[in-house]
Amino acid sequence: MQKITPYLGIIVIIVSVGGIFYPKLGYFLLLVFASLMIIAPFRGRWFCGNLCPRGSFADFWLAPISRKANIPPVFRSMWLRAPIFAALMGFMVYRIIQTQGIVDKVGMVFVTMCILTTAVSILFGLAIAPRAWCSFCPMGTLQRTIGKGKYELKVDREKCIECGKCRKVCPMQLPVNEILSKPDCIKCGRCVEACPKEALRF
Ligand code: SF4
Ligand code: SF4
Ligand code: SF4
Repeated sequence: MQKITPYLGIIVIIVSVGGIFYPKLGYFLLLVFASLMIIAPFRGRWFCGNLCPRGSFADFWLAPISRKANIPPVFRSMWLRAPIFAALMGFMVYRIIQTQGIVDKVGMVFVTMCILTTAVSILFGLAIAPRAWCSFCPMGTLQRTIGKGKYELKVDREKCIECGKCRKVCPMQLPVNEILSKPDCIKCGRCVEACPKEALRF
């Protein structure tokens, strides 16, 4: 069921480090953006849990050395997420306008964004939890908004024995078996695999 692999995380290193010397690597971010925009209207945040290179980086590279503490609830609040989305997108567009369309300069804007957000994700990933950044990442917020209610995780209350195994494995630290709507579920399928009673399904 789980599709995300450790190998995707290498792309984060290639773009963040290689992009300094070869800015065109930054255009990879456009591919990421296009992919998640195509997927989100049908599957919500599925991209985050199955294809995102930084998600893979968090799950496989950061997780072994992360504190794995609780993600503060404020990280999920739209009062924080909406301004972060507006600030980062506004900053990126402003920088792109300044490049006057020069290909390498535009690429470097994307590389800079990648380095900036990767640095923050590593910091929070180590100090809090691997997917702490994913709780307020602008691209996650965008997918949540576009794909709310799509491909929802369903809980069979008759089968659930409240063992809590699903909550333990959830990388987003969601109350998996408690609430029905989980717009920040990244559809990774880990809870489905962990449930001993087959009470969860998409
Ligand atoms: S929230 Fe952002 S960094 Fe995390 S998996 Fe989704 S797109 Fe990638
Ligand atoms: S609720 Fe399940 S599918 Fe959704 S993020 Fe958590 S573990 Fe993954
Ligand atoms: S793992 Fe399955 S049985 Fe256990 S609490 Fe979660 S949904 Fe219920």
